[in-house]
Amino acid sequence: MPNKENRKILIVMMDGFDPAYLQASDMPNTKQMVANGFFKTVKGIMPSVTNVNNTGICCGGPPSKHGITANSYFDLQTRKEEYMDKAAMVLAPTVFERAAPHGFKSALMTAKKKTQSLLRTGANIRLAAEAPKDAEGSNIDWVARLGPAPDIYSLEINLWLFRAAQIALNEAGADLVYFHTTDYIMHMEPPWGDKSQFHLNQWDKLLGETLHAHPNLEVYMSADHGMNFKSRCYDLNTVVPNKGGEIFFAMSAERDPYVKHHRTFGGTAFVWLKHPGDFDRVADICRRLDGVEAVYDRYTAASKFLLHPDRIGDMLVTGDIDTVFGPLADNKTGIEEMPEGFRTHGGSDEAIAPLIIYNREVDPRKWREYNYNFDLTKGIGF
Ligand SMILES: [Zn+2]
Repeated sequence: MPNKENRKILIVMMDGFDPAYLQASDMPNTKQMVANGFFKTVKGIMPSVTNVNNTGICCGGPPSKHGITANSYFDLQTRKEEYMDKAAMVLAPTVFERAAPHGFKSALMTAKKKTQSLLRTGANIRLAAEAPKDAEGSNIDWVARLGPAPDIYSLEINLWLFRAAQIALNEAGADLVYFHTTDYIMHMEPPWGDKSQFHLNQWDKLLGETLHAHPNLEVYMSADHGMNFKSRCYDLNTVVPNKGGEIFFAMSAERDPYVKHHRTFGGTAFVWLKHPGDFDRVADICRRLDGVEAVYDRYTAASKFLLHPDRIGDMLVTGDIDTVFGPLADNKTGIEEMPEGFRTHGGSDEAIAPLIIYNREVDPRKWREYNYNFDLTKGIGF
């Protein structure tokens, strides 16, 4: 039952686009969508890291359905941390799979290789700006058209990617583009930073061009998480034993291959215990640490944060707005002060996102049904 009717759809997953960036930046075209479309500040999912929320937005549901509960998981058999970035780990259909029976040709355009691997299922065209040579599904030579892609640790890569998305819409026949940026610049600068201002203003200009070329373009725009300054990091693998507790392993849910801008530190840690009976003792140690916000057992965490209980630790520990968790090699205290200006996410203070829908009517009576970033495409019609 095709219902495509010449619709053109742009889903924007703006990585790290805290509502503070929208508020502080010169983005006239985005703000025009806010004023004339549907806008709400919504919750993101905990852990507030990219893969969890990117998959949620792409699949239209929480991790209890799609199964992606962090950027990494801990393999209890091999005792190794592995990246959670394979399509086979995604347990729910992507927006591309849902759109296909309706005749949509879709494109996944992302800054990061890990997203091409994670969300690829069902997308007809696939491009990660980080590795354009691995692009799939179209005859377009992206590098010949746009020049070499800028470095993954740059703001310019997002602008290059937007030009690629324009080509996908204008020439490659894509009716539905899922567009995912990198949050490198949000890690590097607060909303009032010069480079951040430049980035979002230039990005917004490209949005304006795109809307000019396609006045009926439906735009669904949200973010995976916010971003905050952080002042301290705990390595629970060291801190807990130092205080007389025993654990099997603690992992930052943020852990991904992009180490340069956050050192894999994030505001949520999964902890695996040696013995189930150790829970109270370890939880007590964690709760007494300055800056630990809360400690949950596996099933409480799964129920509160809509997570998949088989894919998190025995315990989930969250930090307050200043506090993150991660590996601190060669640090015997397991506690480190973060350098001035260190910004990252992963905790409950970053589980927040703007949600914008433009050129697609949202019934105002449905206001309460838009609670999370993963609700972004619930009115898309497939
Ligand atoms: Zn992100």
